[in-house]
Amino acid sequence: MLVSPYSLGCTVTSQLVSATSITELEGLNAKDKIVFLYGEITKEQLMPKNFVFYNPEEHQRIVNLLENSGAQALICATGRNASLAGGIYPFPLIEDGDFDIPSVYMTEEEGTKLIPFIGKQVTLESISERISGKGYNVIGRKGNGKSERIVISAHIDAKKGTPGAIDNATGVIVLLLLAKLLKDYNGSNQIEIVAFNGEDYYAVPGQMNYVRANQDKFGNILLNINIDGAGYKEGKSAFSFFDLTENMQKKAYKVLELCTGIAEGEQWPQGDHSIFIQNGRPAIAVSSKWFIDNINRQDITHTPKDNIGIVNCTKLVEIAEAIASLIKKL
Ligand SMILES: [Zn+2]
Repeated sequence: MLVSPYSLGCTVTSQLVSATSITELEGLNAKDKIVFLYGEITKEQLMPKNFVFYNPEEHQRIVNLLENSGAQALICATGRNASLAGGIYPFPLIEDGDFDIPSVYMTEEEGTKLIPFIGKQVTLESISERISGKGYNVIGRKGNGKSERIVISAHIDAKKGTPGAIDNATGVIVLLLLAKLLKDYNGSNQIEIVAFNGEDYYAVPGQMNYVRANQDKFGNILLNINIDGAGYKEGKSAFSFFDLTENMQKKAYKVLELCTGIAEGEQWPQGDHSIFIQNGRPAIAVSSKWFIDNINRQDITHTPKDNIGIVNCTKLVEIAEAIASLIKKL
């Protein structure tokens, strides 16, 4: 059994009750009990309750029911959920420092062994402590502060338990390459390079800081280019386009035509480019085509497999040169 990240610890002896669906949870008397969640209800990792960028109604409903249930602790049996939790198995159903019911998680197989204990008195001891921290972004700017901004971003943090090579050291390398490639940029836009601190931490503190600081300033952002998951050794790099103007799109295709290792990718929402799209700005998400195509089944990100051995550094140079070339055309 594993402690859910950011969870409070507990020592509880009480009756074990269970729910496998929202309907069962709604009908459950969980007051002062230990709730065992498995099956259908644990198929997706629940978004943190205060997470503003993506939060399905179903997740909010489950979190709400649990918080109002009076449960003393939660035991969750989970499978795989690559699109939201990355490649890990089992995944923590709850990964939320604002959620105060102590929780632990285990594999589906281990969960099966717990089923005979439903209705019985059980003891759960979970040793865990919550330590608060702060997130800061690193931001570099070049050019006239009064002109429109091109924001190039990549998250600098990685999930605990992974080296974070593809997610997202390679993104940071592209930022550094661009800082060099654009050092003599004298075009009409302002270049803003942002290393976001918090994409893989539940409260996304850096992203929230950025949104707060830019509340009235999103309007002057011409384009966001966000790099996340780039440089995988298999397949091509992928540029996915979101709400580009016709003119911008044309210029982007012109650049891609000259890059044999880069193709247009499908749109995907699980990254910091969504911050800009939600605030009405165009964006380009830069990643690896293999990851976008396998977003629902890959078992690499957020695991020890995400190490330097799966990175092709040549692709990072091609990506940085393509972005620099596009920026000079805008
Ligand atoms: Zn990432």
